[in-house]
Amino acid sequence: MNSYDVAVIGSGPGGYVAAIRCAQLGMKTTIIEKYATLGGTCLNVGCIPSKALLDSSHHYEDAVKHFEEHGIDIPGDIKVNLEKMIARKQSVVDQTVGGIDFLMNKNKIDVYRGVGSFKDATHITITGEETIDIEAKNTIIATGSKPSNLPFINLDKDRIITSTEALKLKEIPKHLIVIGGGVIGLELGQVYRRLGSEVTVIEYMDRIIPTMDAGLSKELNKVLKKAKFNIAVSHKVKSVERKGDEIIVKADNKKGEEIEFKGDYCLVSVGRKPYTDGLNADAAGVKITDRGQIEVNDHLQTTAKNIYAIGDVVKGAMLAHKAEEEGVFVAETIAGQKPHIDYNLIPGVVYTWPEVASVGKTEEQLKEAGVEYKAGSFPMRALGRSRASMDLDGFVKILADKKTDEILGVHMIGARAADMIAEAVVAMEFRASAEDVSRMSHAHPTFTEAIKEAALAATDDRSLHM
Ligand code: FAD
Ligand code: NAD
Repeated sequence: MNSYDVAVIGSGPGGYVAAIRCAQLGMKTTIIEKYATLGGTCLNVGCIPSKALLDSSHHYEDAVKHFEEHGIDIPGDIKVNLEKMIARKQSVVDQTVGGIDFLMNKNKIDVYRGVGSFKDATHITITGEETIDIEAKNTIIATGSKPSNLPFINLDKDRIITSTEALKLKEIPKHLIVIGGGVIGLELGQVYRRLGSEVTVIEYMDRIIPTMDAGLSKELNKVLKKAKFNIAVSHKVKSVERKGDEIIVKADNKKGEEIEFKGDYCLVSVGRKPYTDGLNADAAGVKITDRGQIEVNDHLQTTAKNIYAIGDVVKGAMLAHKAEEEGVFVAETIAGQKPHIDYNLIPGVVYTWPEVASVGKTEEQLKEAGVEYKAGSFPMRALGRSRASMDLDGFVKILADKKTDEILGVHMIGARAADMIAEAVVAMEFRASAEDVSRMSHAHPTFTEAIKEAALAATDDRSLHM
């Protein structure tokens, strides 16, 4: 029987990064994945394919709507070739998952394909083409998550679909009904809106992206409405029915009136749930909470002391970079180091256009905690860079402690906000004040000048270009 210092179950961004860090630290490491390709949700049916389709559909929209104003004339009709677009997305996925095979090989990590199931706390049975038992001194569970559903919805995966099917549709929906105005619903909703679908987003809460700063929700709502999204907030979906090719969704609005929505596809994007099927966690003494998550302590150690869990299968934000940080954290913990993660500084991004990005506390959280703060905002449209590229929507908002000026939260919506948020993470990691950031030189012309201007506004209301 093969014996390892560390076995990692699941090869998503949590699992494969944990395996690499374990191998770097000199531990004999293996990774177990039940699917044919490595990379988990993120690389196969999540982050990477969704961004590939967002990029393709963005190019299409630019060609149809904006090339002309840039002085680019394209003779004839501009058409979408959906089959080709989906095939390009798949080739991006194939190259990316191939890269993980390369990394496993490079780091001398044994890869087993099959379902990993605990026999006890130090033995795992892998059931794939053949059944193999291995021994592991330590195990890292990184089994990720699957889409959630509402109890009354029959996901037929043909017209009533999850994100996985939405990434490989064979036709552009005439009318896509999206249940859930969170990250997946808005990103994939925008893909199909750009390609010509009518898109209706039905959200239970009173605003889209309800966990982010309310200012961001408001601005994104405005931009999406301009792009002719139908958005129904404060609507509680109560039934989804398919009649032939028609999907009928019924929801109660705020006043308790029943509203009916009819479309030809329905994307259910109401969150994701931790995945532990087939793991046989009990046999190892690993406890699963009432919410289906693996219970962990501050060291991400489960109720079995040689078994750790990371990523979507444990508490916290379901984000690839959070899973990666936890993978490194656990590898270093097993190696006897004392790593640290500041969960407050894990940024959140929505890859719509304009992009939405956030780190730290929202205004709502600061108010609720009774923290005295000051806010400085700067609109993207006041930047030369924004006018040059015609990306005028959005703003940067910096929240700083009223007395000390320390930055407590940064919230932005605008072109390339997904990349710009890194500056805010660095500043907050080093506990910068708004004045510190306002005194740093930002290249001109760039979108990042909005960060400097917002910092000036937060420091003492002295933006230079407003
Ligand atoms: P996963 O990536 O889910 O990987 C778990 C792996 O474990 C899977 O491959 C699974 O097959 C395997 N597995 C499960 N059980 C077993 C078993 N018993 N034996 C063997 N293998 C097993 N996050 C971002 O940060 N940015 C984004 O832009 C982003 N976009 C997304 C878009 C979509 C459409 C979706 C669905 C998600 C997106 N996410 C994004 C979320 C991100 O994909 C997850 O947070 C991330 O993949 C979690 O990583 P993980 O390693 O915990 O689990
Ligand atoms: P989400 O939690 O972002 O959004 C789900 C939305 O559905 C919420 O706004 C919620 O209020 C709403 N909702 C719940 N029940 C409802 C109901 N009955 N009727 C109407 N609305 C309802 O979840 P998601 O968009 O499904 O994404 C799942 C996970 O994947 C998220 O945790 C997210 O972090 C991750 N993800 C991240 C990215 C990214 O980082 N860019 C992209 C996609 C997915």
